[in-house]
Amino acid sequence: MLRAIDSSSGEIVILHALPLSEIKRLKRTGSFICPKCHEPVYARSGSRMVAHFAHHPKSRCNEKNGGEGEYHETGKWLIYESLKREGYQVLLEPYLKTLQQRPDMLLHYQNTWMAIEFQCARIPIRDIAYRTKNYQKKGIHPLWVIGANQLKRKGRELLQVSDFHKYMIHYHRQAYALYFFDPTLCSWITARSLWSNGERYVNANLEIMKMNSSFRFIHLFGTSPAVPHLTASSWLHYMTRQRRTYSPRTSSQELQWRQFLYLRNLHFSLIPSESMIPLKSQLFLPSRLKIWQSRFIIDVFSPTPIHQKIQTSTIPTPFTSPLLDHVTPNPAEEYLDLLEKLNFVKKGKDNHYYKLKEIAYPKGREEAEKRDRALVTQLLKM
Ligand SMILES: [Zn+2]
Repeated sequence: MLRAIDSSSGEIVILHALPLSEIKRLKRTGSFICPKCHEPVYARSGSRMVAHFAHHPKSRCNEKNGGEGEYHETGKWLIYESLKREGYQVLLEPYLKTLQQRPDMLLHYQNTWMAIEFQCARIPIRDIAYRTKNYQKKGIHPLWVIGANQLKRKGRELLQVSDFHKYMIHYHRQAYALYFFDPTLCSWITARSLWSNGERYVNANLEIMKMNSSFRFIHLFGTSPAVPHLTASSWLHYMTRQRRTYSPRTSSQELQWRQFLYLRNLHFSLIPSESMIPLKSQLFLPSRLKIWQSRFIIDVFSPTPIHQKIQTSTIPTPFTSPLLDHVTPNPAEEYLDLLEKLNFVKKGKDNHYYKLKEIAYPKGREEAEKRDRALVTQLLKM
């Protein structure tokens, strides 16, 4: 915990707010008690942790270090104090009578109110949805901040994203983002420009920001490009893997897809490059990127005559959450807009898409991979 009572003066001491030399002195000579259980506690600090007070190992106090309550409490205080230091109008745990809700913080930010919820434990998604909708009804923007203890990193730019996380995805500055806070390191971790190919993990542009004196709350929202953040190499790597890897043990979704291709005399290594286009809204789709895009091209796009209207009903519908109410993900539009940029379709005045030219089916793997490279170069230039 961040605060304890100094047993000689009776005053509350907030350890991490003190200069380093003072913290060092108090670690040696100070004597403190816990404001909750009144047992003695001791000061702890180090280069990789926020200076705080800890109970002795045998303590049964529920504020005891390491507990979820403690983690949440520390995070809440650190965020609150940092916002205060920046001069924001911010209230800690205000009770909102009309909503009968108590957000961790209520912040006045860019002419509106923002309710900050610091969520360190898994709660049912219906609770996240309920609280989100309630805030929105009152014109308050919810900002869900997830405890870094719930961050499941699977690589430099890979995250495991469960439904619990999905309900806390925000859409800020044209990108999907998750916000994490680590109270032990006093750092924010933003996962921006999230994108997925429908496989196990989600790609993200991860940024760690130490909440020091040069940190500003506004930095969290960054800026991002209109297409999902990805490099040519990671995208090409994905395409090449889809063409070259045949794993005998695979999901039923993949097996059904292979059967689908087989019935049409096609091989998985020779699907059109345009059936592996990354989209922001893929994150919210139940079906893998290459599966629904190739089914669309093979069964809908290719049989449609030139200049005729393209049907989009086979494109899967996204999962959505109340946080994304104003920006409901629209994979059909996102995909066809990109196909328009590539001159395969043209959007009519009636908002339907009309076919302009055929999408090519490569004859061999060499041709396929050459087409992949050309597509990636073309799309990343846009
Ligand atoms: Zn205690």
